[in-house]
Amino acid sequence: MRLARFNGGRIGVCLGDEIADVTAICGVDPEEWPAVGPLRLIRDFAALRPRIEAGLASAPKIALAQARLEAPVPWPNKVIAYPVNYHAHGREMQANYRATNQGFFLKPSSSVSGPGDAVELPQVPGREVHHESELGIVIGKQVRGLSRENWREAVFGYVCLLDMVVRGREERVFRKAYDTFCPTGPWIVTADELTDPTALDMKLWVNDELRQSANTRDLVLDIPGMIETASAVMTLYPGDIIATGTPEGVGPVVAGDTIRITIDGIGEMRVPVVQGNQGATEVFAQPYVPPIIKQN
Ligand code: MN
Repeated sequence: MRLARFNGGRIGVCLGDEIADVTAICGVDPEEWPAVGPLRLIRDFAALRPRIEAGLASAPKIALAQARLEAPVPWPNKVIAYPVNYHAHGREMQANYRATNQGFFLKPSSSVSGPGDAVELPQVPGREVHHESELGIVIGKQVRGLSRENWREAVFGYVCLLDMVVRGREERVFRKAYDTFCPTGPWIVTADELTDPTALDMKLWVNDELRQSANTRDLVLDIPGMIETASAVMTLYPGDIIATGTPEGVGPVVAGDTIRITIDGIGEMRVPVVQGNQGATEVFAQPYVPPIIKQN
């Protein structure tokens, strides 16, 4: 099933070129703050699914092209992100570590945006903001200490994810924390529909230029390992998102660009890039020592 959020917090099931509005069946209040209804929907999905499926035929529908798609999980408890999780990206970054011996970092939930939202570049003169195309995993169940062989128990579904970053040597979390620096979508494809996430082609273009092209089989720390590692440290909750790491080919975006990401079996997001008027900080006022990528 393809579960979307659209038009101001409504819950939809994507059916071809239409979206069926199942907000009422799911018991989600589009107006609620914080927007944690999708977390309860994910937690209770197994019980709700038969009612959702039974209601699809009679649910109100609009053309998908007319819907404004939003972040499927706008208020996750956390976004867990694995750095340097493809060897070729590690080489381009000249990183002497990998996710297997580095662990993960967190992105703030407030950085999460949706497929219909622009990436807003902060005021960081002299710095580059880079795209990182990633497979996103949406957690479906509260788990702690899950072993790798049981990883599927924890997974609700998958999204396309962009881990945007200001390049530099400063604290990684700081550079990746800006609002709109975690576009997710275009919807959640539930795990039953995407039975083998371990061999998915993923591509990213900036405008018409293909920048990143890889397959998730090349992940250094694999998906079971990422879930085992994260749940060893902390409780994973329904709606938590794991950003699984980016392959080689990261690079800058500027205002006016459109970032397009596709992942087999999930779909496509086209995210515009705009210049914002916020985000200037002392931290980024210091000189940048380029280039940290593409040195060899
Ligand atoms: Mn990343």
